[in-house]
Amino acid sequence: MANSNNNRRKFMATTLQSVGLTALGGLLWSGYTDEVKASPLVLRPPGALKEEDFLKACIKCGLCAEACVNRDSNKNKDGSKRDGTLQMAKGGDHRMIGTPFFIPTEVPCYMCDDIPCVPVCPSGALDEASVTNEKGDLDINQARMGLAVVHKESCIAFWGIQCDACYRACPLMDEAISLEYAKNERTGKHAFLLPVVHSDVCTGCGLCEKACVTEKPAIFVLPTEYSTGKAGAHYVKGWDKKDQLRAGERKLDQIETKTERSEEAPADYLNTEVEY
Ligand code: SF4
Ligand code: SF4
Ligand code: SF4
Repeated sequence: MANSNNNRRKFMATTLQSVGLTALGGLLWSGYTDEVKASPLVLRPPGALKEEDFLKACIKCGLCAEACVNRDSNKNKDGSKRDGTLQMAKGGDHRMIGTPFFIPTEVPCYMCDDIPCVPVCPSGALDEASVTNEKGDLDINQARMGLAVVHKESCIAFWGIQCDACYRACPLMDEAISLEYAKNERTGKHAFLLPVVHSDVCTGCGLCEKACVTEKPAIFVLPTEYSTGKAGAHYVKGWDKKDQLRAGERKLDQIETKTERSEEAPADYLNTEVEY
């Protein structure tokens, strides 16, 4: 009888251990998948492949983050070392664990000329070619870590208050971000100076987001696929000859829009079919 009780106890203990291990495994796995699911808005280092390819290629070695924090320029005025831009994701960061990312409001990318974080990557997850210019030199201006967008409702420049903090913080001032004048119709006598980001130049470094004076930044960087729309291939800019080429295989000098109406003077065709 004693033997049978012992066996039952052992069986129960083994079963509970298995259930416990399975539950723990499940928890860890769901934690892991949560990290993956929660990561679409993550900002990656310069030269990073598209997110899906990056996640496959990155071997989570941390060399990019190490190069970033240890670069010579990463020092305070008193010579002490500053935090690096790149962090390696850990549990609770809501990013794929072990992968590098940055948060502009904590430490933006300082757009180092020599981009030390990229050439050290052994896996190709950070693609040197994508940050190399026509001359074959590393060129941080080629980086597309994301794209800054302005939230007009919270940007105080759109209220008519003079602020150019983001504009002044941008390393590509007047190229990636410009200030555009507009008349303040509310007062009738003042001008707005409005920040406008240019997507063909913005690198997504986040220096503007870090510099923004509002409680929650009114300018912020999102991964490019989340901050851009897409008009659709069937829309063609009629005033842009290069864009018109998309509509056919014609050469630039062959492009001319001709319709039955364009043969006539506007004054003639505008009044046709009108009954008085
Ligand atoms: S380019 Fe940006 S991410 Fe790379 S080392 Fe410099 S500050 Fe760090
Ligand atoms: S150096 Fe490359 S492989 Fe290593 S963590 Fe950075 S991106 Fe991933
Ligand atoms: S993210 Fe901001 S600071 Fe950086 S290049 Fe773009 S507009 Fe300039």
